[in-house]
Amino acid sequence: MTTDPQNPGTRGDLIKSLEHRYSPGEVRRRSQRRLVNGTGWLVWITLLSGLKRVLDVVIALVLLTLAALPAAALWLYAKSRGGGISKSVRLGRWAAPFDLYHFSCRSGLDDTALAKLPVLWNLLRGDLALIGPRAATPETNPVERLAWKRYQVRPGLICLWWIRRRANIAYATEAQVDAEYIDTQSLRGDLGIALRAIPAAFYGEGVSEAPDIIHLAGIPIHNLSMDEAVEYIADPARQDPVQICFVNADCVNIAARNAAYKQLLQQSDLVLGDGIGIKLAGKILNTHLRQNVNGTDLFPRLCARLDGTAEGIYLLGGKPGVPEDVAAWIGRNHPGVKISGTQHGYFAKEETAGVLQAIHDSGAHVLLIAFGAPKQELFIRDHLRETGVKVAIGVGGLFDFYSGRIPRAPAWLREMGGEWLYRFIQEPRRMWRRYFVGNVIFLYRVFQFRAALRRQESQNIGGA
Ligand code: UDP
Repeated sequence: MTTDPQNPGTRGDLIKSLEHRYSPGEVRRRSQRRLVNGTGWLVWITLLSGLKRVLDVVIALVLLTLAALPAAALWLYAKSRGGGISKSVRLGRWAAPFDLYHFSCRSGLDDTALAKLPVLWNLLRGDLALIGPRAATPETNPVERLAWKRYQVRPGLICLWWIRRRANIAYATEAQVDAEYIDTQSLRGDLGIALRAIPAAFYGEGVSEAPDIIHLAGIPIHNLSMDEAVEYIADPARQDPVQICFVNADCVNIAARNAAYKQLLQQSDLVLGDGIGIKLAGKILNTHLRQNVNGTDLFPRLCARLDGTAEGIYLLGGKPGVPEDVAAWIGRNHPGVKISGTQHGYFAKEETAGVLQAIHDSGAHVLLIAFGAPKQELFIRDHLRETGVKVAIGVGGLFDFYSGRIPRAPAWLREMGGEWLYRFIQEPRRMWRRYFVGNVIFLYRVFQFRAALRRQESQNIGGA
């Protein structure tokens, strides 16, 4: 009889399998295998980091060659103004300090990308890698210094955190994003980050001031971060019910045609800017939108926040079976969240009273409604009090994502601000108008709005 060491049948089999497992020959074979595996892994890591370094050197050489003439011209210009190349200290790999070079022109040029050309020299020398965490300064506060993980690798010219901040989707801390980068590092990943940096460079950081409300073509957008929005919704002490709306570029277009919807947005308790279109509008209007607080990214964070609390969620909308599948997603991922109830969104008008009563009886704290904009927002406006909930939010296509009906764009595309492109590819017939016509109209509206603002400003100055 043969003995399966993983599944010994009788006591005798068990003893035999243990004897075999711990026999000198078997123990030696196992330790040899461990050594080979461990060495293989080390060789692999060394090759990978070696290759990364070789690529960095090649890229630095190519860029230095291309930039040689402009750099020389800039250096002469800097010299003529009493400047030159200046250095500032940064912390490199293993937190070893190094000098970061840049041009000091003593003019407006100092803040431009051109003045940073000498960092290519740092790249060539190996102080910096092309991709890596941001190089910390020696003054970095002690708490951040404790995020020691970043020092395991060379700091980079381009970092993942920077890209996410520019696409307004940096919901995690810098240390968390650095750790994510280091743990999942690969050459392919680095190539992806380098490519994603190109559109990110155009999105811009916005200006430093961040007003609490951004007015966009007559729609007030509340400038909250993701965490602040989640706290606002989950607040168990809330007394009066509130309506929350997400506004993306398409919603701004709808509001321009639909006066009732526009007025509702103006009167809502909280309007959150959703998507890269709103971020771009902020840039055009020279105001800074803190984060892309969209429903799809907010939802799992809200579930995590409500996990283990008494505040339940009611899911209303989507095709029959869809809200139930969303509830199943919550059950799998946040089992401590109370699901107060579910109801699909294709009930007859006469059934509305019954649906509202069921929501009321469920005692839910949060009501998520997916009927699409503006139907869901108008429904909340008309029935918020009857539902008895504390917070009602129109969430559009969110249920379709979390029920698994429609896959969501991969993270790398979202980082490039390209989620809309993915939606278009999935449903080209329904979405082409929204994105290709709608986005152009939206941008036109934003520019028109900016022109009106400027006219008003100059009139005010003239009148003053
Ligand atoms: N829906 C619904 N009842 C309706 C119309 C739509 O429940 O009478 C659902 C539909 O099944 C889908 C969601 O509402 O799940 C709307 O998704 P859409 O992507 O159109 O919303 P958007 O994000 O564009 O506002």
